[in-house]
Amino acid sequence: MQSPNASALNLLQKHFGYPSFRDQQAPIIESVLAGQDVLVIMPTGGGKSLCYQIPAMLRNGVGIVISPLVALMDDQVATLKQNGVAAGCLHSGVSLAEQRQLARDLESGTIDILYVSPERFLTEKFVAFLSRLNIALFAIDEAHCVSQWGHDFRPEYANLYQIFARFLDVPRIALTATADQHTQQDIVERLNLRQVEAYYCGFDRPNIQYRVHSDLTQPKDELLAFIEQEHADDSGIVYCLSRKKVESTAEWLIQRGINAIAYHAGLSPALRAHAQQRFMREENIVIVATIAFGMGIDKPDVRFVAHLNLPKSIEAYYQETGRAGRDGLAATAWMSYGLNDLVLMKQMVDNSQADESVKRIERHKLDALLSYAESIECRRRVLLGYFDDEYAGDCGNCDNCLHPAQTEDASKMAQLALSCIYRTGQRFGAHYLINVLRGKDDERIKRNGHHQLALFNMGVEHDKNDWLTLLRQLLAQKFIAIDLAGHQTLRLADSCRPILRGEQTFRVRKKPLRKKASVRSNRFVSSENAELWAALREKRMALAQENNVAPYMIFNDQTLMAMMEKRPKNRRQFALLYGVGEAKLERFGAEFLAVLEAFDDEKTVSSEQVIELFKLSEDYQVVMKQLALSESAVYKALAEGIQSGQLQLNEVVTISESDLSQMHELFLQQSGSDYRVSPVVDFFKPKFRYGEVRCVRAHFMLG
Ligand code: ADP
Ligand code: ZN
Repeated sequence: MQSPNASALNLLQKHFGYPSFRDQQAPIIESVLAGQDVLVIMPTGGGKSLCYQIPAMLRNGVGIVISPLVALMDDQVATLKQNGVAAGCLHSGVSLAEQRQLARDLESGTIDILYVSPERFLTEKFVAFLSRLNIALFAIDEAHCVSQWGHDFRPEYANLYQIFARFLDVPRIALTATADQHTQQDIVERLNLRQVEAYYCGFDRPNIQYRVHSDLTQPKDELLAFIEQEHADDSGIVYCLSRKKVESTAEWLIQRGINAIAYHAGLSPALRAHAQQRFMREENIVIVATIAFGMGIDKPDVRFVAHLNLPKSIEAYYQETGRAGRDGLAATAWMSYGLNDLVLMKQMVDNSQADESVKRIERHKLDALLSYAESIECRRRVLLGYFDDEYAGDCGNCDNCLHPAQTEDASKMAQLALSCIYRTGQRFGAHYLINVLRGKDDERIKRNGHHQLALFNMGVEHDKNDWLTLLRQLLAQKFIAIDLAGHQTLRLADSCRPILRGEQTFRVRKKPLRKKASVRSNRFVSSENAELWAALREKRMALAQENNVAPYMIFNDQTLMAMMEKRPKNRRQFALLYGVGEAKLERFGAEFLAVLEAFDDEKTVSSEQVIELFKLSEDYQVVMKQLALSESAVYKALAEGIQSGQLQLNEVVTISESDLSQMHELFLQQSGSDYRVSPVVDFFKPKFRYGEVRCVRAHFMLG
């Protein structure tokens, strides 16, 4: 007989096509198989589902999964079915005929996993039905919903234990991505987990790159550039604060050729459902939304989440950005904010109907978010620290790590601003103050006599934006305060005195000298592979439409990448790919193999032929024509020629000494073992072709 672990691994490979379990999955599965109650705290995308799906398949009977989100349930079941796993779901959206069929299948024992909404689970009729079945386990997904401390308490969850009590010999596994100590305790108590085995896997989402931009004059333009440069063919979410801004931003993006769609609570249910459906089914769609969007959206290939306004709190930010990169591939969390946002958020907290104690908490949460946004330290460390999840060192995958911020002494500027607030009587807003500082010829200033102040015009050397930035930082660090009841006028806070008196320095983030030497790009398909990538995606989309499922349910991005890398030539090789199980091999293998084969033709020409012809013609275009090769295939062979010493770099690329040494420098600066060509191409754009840089890299690697 096989040990349970071996059969679990077997199922993982056979149905899901993954080679091995992730860190904690194996012990968790062991515990459940042993009949233990288990609590799992694992970050989004960590792989919680398999922790109950595999035991449900292995243990006798059907695994019952209680999940609060209908859309998510349907997706999980569809995904399982694609993998050849017998699964079903039961909620108010399932037709009677389907329910009857499902009941028959359950009674005959042919279903391994049943997803059910808590409402349905709690009905007497369902419980009576359950008692006639063999039950493998109860899995409680989004288990934090059981706690009033958590952010989405569901009353039905609090009653689940009553039903569990009638099935004492069935193990319970509770899973969540967000639970502080208190919530964890609640989960154990309220679900009555017995001698619980707890698995804590931290909160980190290493594949998400965090970036915060606080000084953008044109945030929308920057967002567009970010999408175009780094996520041109990807899906993403753009969060805005108001419905109006959602609509105008979506329209603005559409006019600029982005496949965008708006989503907010003011749309009709039909329109919302339509937007959601499109988001799930399309591959390069950008949904512009208020925070009403996201709950229960489990699209694994969201490549970026952008905030055009400040989120409400770090919790909200983490949850919203957490919707990116569930599949584990590189993703970006991009945020832009400015003084206006700060004022708006403070105003929203102050004007809310909540009582004072709640407002105090909200203010505190906003402050925590601000110190994250203004931080010059590793963002991941700040974020995880907030959740008491200590992160040692720097992550290397956030803006502050990639481009350590330089700070400079801005005490003089701060003193000037503070004096200006004081001298004008603490009765004016940012724009007025800046006009005084910059000596603007202004009626209102004259009427108030502020053009006669000694500091009038003393700040003219700094532009308006510099002053806005400074005021924002003074505000974020609470050296000044904003009077929200009045007209957003700024006043001094007690803590500013040491700065005014010159006893304390005030440092600010130095402005980058040049516009972005671009943060490391998050694109993961090199331009040489772009055509094959597009063809594979096209095939996937066609199959998804044919099968009426979301594209990722056919194969996820990681599997498509594995196809590009491994270039399987037959079924046997295809079966070995990451994410290819038996069911999918059978149904889709041949189709993808055909696509790969079409791209393989080029390979029949040897590098030697290319090099020889190039030496004769000295023109890559001639080689392309004569050998019917793509540009990238030609350069690939030429780069090989350089590396093997058959060709000299200057036979292939015309490049100045200084450009050459700059390129070497750029390769040297790259961390990691493989030198990437695209960033160098981007840097010199449009001076050198991709292939040319590739040849320089070959030369560089020669040493
Ligand atoms: P969670 O529910 O924790 O957010 P999921 O269960 O949806 O995460 O898993 C996230 C992704 O990781 C899915 O695409 C899943 O198929 C994949 N995955 C899970 N476990 C493994 C594994 N052992 N090897 C490779 N991929 C895995
Ligand atoms: Zn970092």
